[in-house]
Amino acid sequence: MGTWLLMAYFANGTEGLTYQEQYCFRCEHFEQRPGEGAEGCPIWDAHLLFAYELCNEKEHPGKVILDMLIPEREHTFSNGITYVVPAECTLFKLKQEPLCEPSA
Ligand code: SF4
Repeated sequence: MGTWLLMAYFANGTEGLTYQEQYCFRCEHFEQRPGEGAEGCPIWDAHLLFAYELCNEKEHPGKVILDMLIPEREHTFSNGITYVVPAECTLFKLKQEPLCEPSA
């Protein structure tokens, strides 16, 4: 078995967007930020800013914090290859959609 990265690390934009589709876009903490021209949350921002820089660290406090927020888990694909993928964000909270739109 090779060496695994221990925290959520997104190898490219597609992998990051896939994660956001699975969790962030359905999460209460994902929001528009007026004036910033962006949407997201502080946890996502922290990973975008520091996951690449810290992915090979072992005990750096920043890495420990990122590990706590978005850990990783092993996933075995149908071809039998096991790969480490980002696990569910520890602060993921399913957004509550209204059952129906209020009438005008
Ligand atoms: S709290 Fe986690 S799942 Fe929710 S938007 Fe932030 S990074 Fe995504």
